Amino acid sequence: MRGGGWADIPDGTLEVRDGLIVAVGRGRRHDFDLRPNLIVPGFVDTHAHVPQLSLCGIHPDGLLPWLRKWVYPVEAEFQGGRAVELTRRFFQEMLANGTTAAALYTSAWPESVDACFEAARDAGVHAWIGPPLMDIGAYRRSRVLQEAEELAKKWDSKKQRFAVTPRFALSCTQDLLHGAGDLARRLNLPVQTHLNENPDEIREVRHRFHKPYADVYEEAGLTGELSLFAHCVHMTSRDWKKIRRVSHCPTSNLFLKSGVLDWPAAKRAGVRMSLGSDVGAGPELSMYRVMRTAWEVHAVRSAKGPGPEDLFRMATLGGAEALGFEDIGSLEPGKSADFQVLDWNQIVPAGAPPAESAHDLISRIVHRGNRSAIRQVYVAGHLAVDHARE
Ligand SMILES: [Zn+2]
Repeated sequence: MRGGGWADIPDGTLEVRDGLIVAVGRGRRHDFDLRPNLIVPGFVDTHAHVPQLSLCGIHPDGLLPWLRKWVYPVEAEFQGGRAVELTRRFFQEMLANGTTAAALYTSAWPESVDACFEAARDAGVHAWIGPPLMDIGAYRRSRVLQEAEELAKKWDSKKQRFAVTPRFALSCTQDLLHGAGDLARRLNLPVQTHLNENPDEIREVRHRFHKPYADVYEEAGLTGELSLFAHCVHMTSRDWKKIRRVSHCPTSNLFLKSGVLDWPAAKRAGVRMSLGSDVGAGPELSMYRVMRTAWEVHAVRSAKGPGPEDLFRMATLGGAEALGFEDIGSLEPGKSADFQVLDWNQIVPAGAPPAESAHDLISRIVHRGNRSAIRQVYVAGHLAVDHARE
């Protein structure tokens, strides 16, 4: 894939030096022969909650009851050594699914944030990381903003960004939302939050703030250039004009019965579209499943849904663009050597025609890829996962 385009290079060579891709093409010299397997970019998951991996698949009653019953108690316990151990396992599982960059929410405890930055740094992955800011219905509410500022100053770097993360409008007072907007502006930090996910949530926001959901964020200074909004399921044309970056979370939106994002409207709005697993409302960290679910829900609604290239792009380069990382998301010279090695025999069925177009191959990867098809995952040129040896 080059500059957002596509290249299928049979018997290709990927030359890596000091963690970076230095050449892509056809070459005879190689240190490792991975044929006949496929090399594709690592995924970028633009929305997931680290403490919620343990909740995946628990039967929900809709967003708000699910948060109260399951999420807040689990996050309240996500501290100390437990946070360190479970964060480490989250990263293992994420990498095992071929995801090499992500936008992550931790728990509200500072040690959860420390654990996440340490895990991201040790794994060498690009990430946005932030604790969910909340002072309403919160399991932790003192010094929320001061603590966020201290954590931002401690951790924010080029590769691992501290993201100002108001959990969602309903968990925040006006003061906290404005303080969050102010913090992002003063320290030039990215912002991530949820927007227009679920009808009950949207009604409640209207009731409490007396204005449309997107306006609540806009007036708090949270709709800047580097603000990423998850879900965006129930949007007006006015809402679409206020935002630039979206994390589309189709598996989560189905699981919590929140609805289906309006794909044609999102395309018309011209926003940067990416994909998020939204674990733990999404049932797993696999971006293969996220791509496939997106294809299915939009194909049912309209013939103009995203095609395989759109989906694969959103899961890789689109995600990198949504997070403002220019050095990941595709296999091009100068980019970080973040890639997956896929088992050819699991992607392409026996007896398939010998010469396939790049389009057909991408379609096979989107529709047949999964965790067990991944043989190896590399991050910055280092072997991070080796299923081939297991
Ligand atoms: Zn979420």
